[in-house]
Amino acid sequence: MKVSRYNIFYRMDNEWIAYNSFSNSLAVLGEENYREFSKFEKNNNYLLDEEFLKKLQQGGYIVEDDCDELQLIEYEKQAERFNQSTLSLTIAPTLNCNFRCAYCYEKERYENEVMGEDVQNSIIDLIESKKEDLKQLAIAWYGGEPLLAIEVVESLSENLKALCTTNNIGYSAVIVTNGYLLTDVYAQKLQKAGITSVQITLDGLEERHNKKRPLKNGEGTYRRIIDNIKSNAHYFDEILIRVNCDSENITEYTNLYNEIKALKLNNIKMYASPIRDFDGCYSCGGCIDKAEFKELESGIYKSLGGEIYKRFILDKYPVRGANYCGAQINNSLIVAADGKMYKCWGDVGNTNRTFGNVCDINKVDVNKCIYYFNAYKGEDCKQCSYYPICSGGCPHENRIGKADVCEYNEKILNDYLEEIVKYKRKKA
Ligand code: SF4
Ligand code: SF4
Repeated sequence: MKVSRYNIFYRMDNEWIAYNSFSNSLAVLGEENYREFSKFEKNNNYLLDEEFLKKLQQGGYIVEDDCDELQLIEYEKQAERFNQSTLSLTIAPTLNCNFRCAYCYEKERYENEVMGEDVQNSIIDLIESKKEDLKQLAIAWYGGEPLLAIEVVESLSENLKALCTTNNIGYSAVIVTNGYLLTDVYAQKLQKAGITSVQITLDGLEERHNKKRPLKNGEGTYRRIIDNIKSNAHYFDEILIRVNCDSENITEYTNLYNEIKALKLNNIKMYASPIRDFDGCYSCGGCIDKAEFKELESGIYKSLGGEIYKRFILDKYPVRGANYCGAQINNSLIVAADGKMYKCWGDVGNTNRTFGNVCDINKVDVNKCIYYFNAYKGEDCKQCSYYPICSGGCPHENRIGKADVCEYNEKILNDYLEEIVKYKRKKA
């Protein structure tokens, strides 16, 4: 037996928080147990109490001598990359948008084009060609603003669902929308289209949001989005409110949280996300450093206390993931309104980054794209105790040499874990 290479222990008052980033186990050890464990760490022949040893094994803190966790991670990465049983398809039925957000990375890519029947049919053909291996089709509607092309969402959804039913393929669909058009009529259409989860972005309280995310004509959008959420959330299993944060608005998160909470909706989750400089800044200012963001975020969650874990943020518990994002996975594709295909959400509409067209699928080489999105910090990551939960960071950021790709550092992880321990103890 030997200790896992992914044990992360640190002191919390008179105890030790013991987390393992590979098994994702979390335990609290008293001084005595910690001392015993340390003795084993120094000398594998040290005899631990049988019961204690069993628990350490169950938690993955101690593993068999021949267990190579790093190799297992690498295997999982490859297995997920070439798994043919799930197809994740992001569809942008239009790149047109009714908003003009200050930081939008699709800024110079607005087009009025709406996905035509030829592209829709080619998407169906693509799935037909994969149907023998397929067990699950996961659709994400994206844009531009996908509700500006609601008729495509409706018609294509009908065809996709029918294809899945005929071939016994599981079907799920989510949508990313700015929420402005999410009226009762549109919400019903989306429900009929099989969409169960809606992600809507807010940028702060009313005044700030209206400045950052106005309509094309400059009018504010906040009040109508909130009204739409309040009236129509019941059509969906889940509403995810993403709060795009920069150095200016992150301080408003707590007040926004209280405003959303006051809607008294059970199916709502809210989380903060940093506005990042994707490929050169669009001069909105205030893009936030990842480490700085995480620190501010952790401060916010702390100030909101344990209740935040119930339903107002996505679960922050760090779990092992094979790949960082769909760009690294063979069967994860993005199709824009004109049929052009992409791997990275940030590339949509940038024709220099397309790797082919769904209408000409025989010329598409997805494996080549995976190679492109294989970038990570190499040996640094392989030696890093956060590797199982970080997966090496955003491959695009790695490729362009961003300095702050790391998802975790000691402080960030410790802060999260400490809050989780406190919350669980309060609940117990
Ligand atoms: S490569 Fe980075 S920016 Fe692109 S989809 Fe993946 S995580 Fe997002
Ligand atoms: S990107 Fe940074 S935190 Fe993530 S695994 Fe690599 S070295 Fe570790």
